[in-house]
Amino acid sequence: MNELVRQTSSLLKSLNLKGIDRHLDELIEGCEDTSRSPLAFLHDVLTTEVSDRKDRRLRRNLAAAHFPVEKRLETFGFERLSGITETDMTALRDFRWIDKNENILFFGPPGLGKTHLSIALGLEAVHAGYTVCFERMSNLVKLLKTSEIQRASAFRIRRILSSHVLIIDEIGYIPIDRKEANLFFNLVSELYERSAIIVTSNKHFDAWSEMMGDEIMTTAMLDRLLHHAHIFSLSGESYRLESQRKENEMPALTNG
Ligand code: ADP
Ligand code: MG
Repeated sequence: MNELVRQTSSLLKSLNLKGIDRHLDELIEGCEDTSRSPLAFLHDVLTTEVSDRKDRRLRRNLAAAHFPVEKRLETFGFERLSGITETDMTALRDFRWIDKNENILFFGPPGLGKTHLSIALGLEAVHAGYTVCFERMSNLVKLLKTSEIQRASAFRIRRILSSHVLIIDEIGYIPIDRKEANLFFNLVSELYERSAIIVTSNKHFDAWSEMMGDEIMTTAMLDRLLHHAHIFSLSGESYRLESQRKENEMPALTNG
């Protein structure tokens, strides 16, 4: 390697300009076109660094979101589902609810696409530059319980507290004990008016106090969650059952 290139690369590394360093060869090749001004070259160099940083940040934020699968709004069918329309979702795609620290709550029986919608919104939010954490309720409770003794849990909770959006999936599938409910209540209180929260639940909030085992605390928590909230109560046929039924109705292709 040319000595000057090696020294330049080392300077770029020590200045933490990884994007320029990674694209150094292309940038040098680009300036062989002598008709381009030094200012245009400098512009290319800086643009390269800025867009490389943006790419890296996006990849980091996607990884840190912990989405269990990839789901898109484009693949979601709103027909036959009541309680939410495509217009509702389009309105949420401007992400003003994140800027205003508002919450979104999806209620309804299993298979109606609550998790799908929350992942799809979260994914778009990450692409729009926001930080998002996805956690199933059972895992969130586990993280809260272990954050004082496990460094990984403490790290995750810190990330959750500093993210723009927390998605809590499947509240209500399993009952939680008093101590767990208390930890959860403290988390919601800390996030209140500081971050946006998306919740999915198979139980309408009338039934939450039974799950949390403490009516006063549940009321106080719902007060915070519902204060600035977009609430969607979904009903319709389970998408899982519906696609299974369609498969069964399809004419068999093989058994001659
Ligand atoms: P829920 O969280 O309400 O139980 P999910 O979001 O897990 O439901 O949906 C179950 C499966 O069906 C997922 O694979 C999801 O992508 C798909 N699904 C649910 N509703 C729809 C829909 N309206 N359009 C397209 N796919 C859907
Ligand atoms: Mg779900």
